[in-house]
Amino acid sequence: MRTVILLLIFTSQITFSQSIDSIIYNGSWISMEHLLQKYVQIPSISGNEKKAGEFIKSIARENGLSISDFGSENGNYNFAASLFPLSEKKPNIIFLNHIDVVPEIRLDGTDPYSGEIKKDRVLGRGSIDNKGSALMQLYGIIQYLKSESASNDQYNITFLAVSCEETQCAGGINYVLENHLEELNAVAVIGEGPSELTNLLEGKFKNPIFGISVTHKRSLWLNLELEIKTNGHSSVTPIHYSNQEMVCALNNLTSKKNEIIYNALNINILKTLGSQKKGLEKLILKHPRLFKFLLVPQLRKQPELLSLYTNTITLTEISSNNDSYNILPSKTIAHLDCRLLPETDEKEFLSLIKSRLKNDNVKVMVVESMQESDPTSIETIYFKNLAKSIKSYYPTSKILPLLLPNINDLGAFRAKGILAYASTPVSFSRKEVQSIHNQHESISIQLLYDGAQIHFNYIKKMQNN
Ligand SMILES: [Zn+2]
Repeated sequence: MRTVILLLIFTSQITFSQSIDSIIYNGSWISMEHLLQKYVQIPSISGNEKKAGEFIKSIARENGLSISDFGSENGNYNFAASLFPLSEKKPNIIFLNHIDVVPEIRLDGTDPYSGEIKKDRVLGRGSIDNKGSALMQLYGIIQYLKSESASNDQYNITFLAVSCEETQCAGGINYVLENHLEELNAVAVIGEGPSELTNLLEGKFKNPIFGISVTHKRSLWLNLELEIKTNGHSSVTPIHYSNQEMVCALNNLTSKKNEIIYNALNINILKTLGSQKKGLEKLILKHPRLFKFLLVPQLRKQPELLSLYTNTITLTEISSNNDSYNILPSKTIAHLDCRLLPETDEKEFLSLIKSRLKNDNVKVMVVESMQESDPTSIETIYFKNLAKSIKSYYPTSKILPLLLPNINDLGAFRAKGILAYASTPVSFSRKEVQSIHNQHESISIQLLYDGAQIHFNYIKKMQNN
């Protein structure tokens, strides 16, 4: 009997600790899915965030969070909603999210801003990126505030909502960090990033693997120019002219395979994947250096994976400002989007590009070069507790520190030397991930609650540390 009672107490506690309550909206209770519906229904394409921002801010305020405004106009609408006023100067853990969405795609007459709740899903632009993910953070914080928060908590927790993440305009995270970094007193930042990975990969895995990104590749944007004076008419083909020579040079550059570069992080990705496999596959993946000759051809078949092992060079524009068939322009330009692994030396990379072009007349100019920043350490309480929070919800899961081929707003914190972890700690399906920035974006309601619960667990673990 005693065991039964104990078991009952135990299970009732588990049920309680896993439930995320509704929050208050205009004086009544509202569930996550219904709040997400309303948030999705306010279009907020980058540069037009004010209305959606005011909506979500008023809810944060109504539920007892302390608000600090960091810009109140479209394209510069940012705010912090915190457990404690920022003026208390507690070390602050930031949950970063963005209000803006990418433009909708209307191809089949469905309304991308319907926010419709259909069966077990919420539909519409932003339902995952980033409104759904933001609500996981917000509900987690409010749940903690209602049930556990105490004035002697050691950390402040802040929901930081910003503008134009998708376009990286000046009024978003860069404005916040330029003007309010001290006020924020951030010790660590957690924001959108990888979710569970095996759902997205081919093949079978023993356990779920959750990625937490701790670094990103740096973008290096290059402008290439080639000028060769000609007599202007194309009835007689000159021996040398800019369009033809630029095409040859670009062919020299882009037809070469980029070298596979192993580093501690990307080697660990292969080893972790290997630990979830059997037989020969396991053996090869667990020894990436020994079996590099077998792995490289496989990596080259999968551009997403390959991007984690190479510096990439992508030709995004080629033009000569000419729309006539019979005029020969004298100048050709090309744009390259290069993405460098963290350890790559920019000068060496630029000389590699120049030598591969095999044409000294092509001028290579750096248009934008992202600042270098060190990978965020995983030997911190912030990372360890994030990993534990995920594992306490998905007990069989493995945690994998990752490198991302692209950058988001977290990179701005990392560049300031602040610990930044990119993770959306839920198990999205492949279809859900493919819907991001695409048609028919939608999220499973269960995942909203899973994510909120993990954020709540994380806050509890940090405060009770
Ligand atoms: Zn996003």
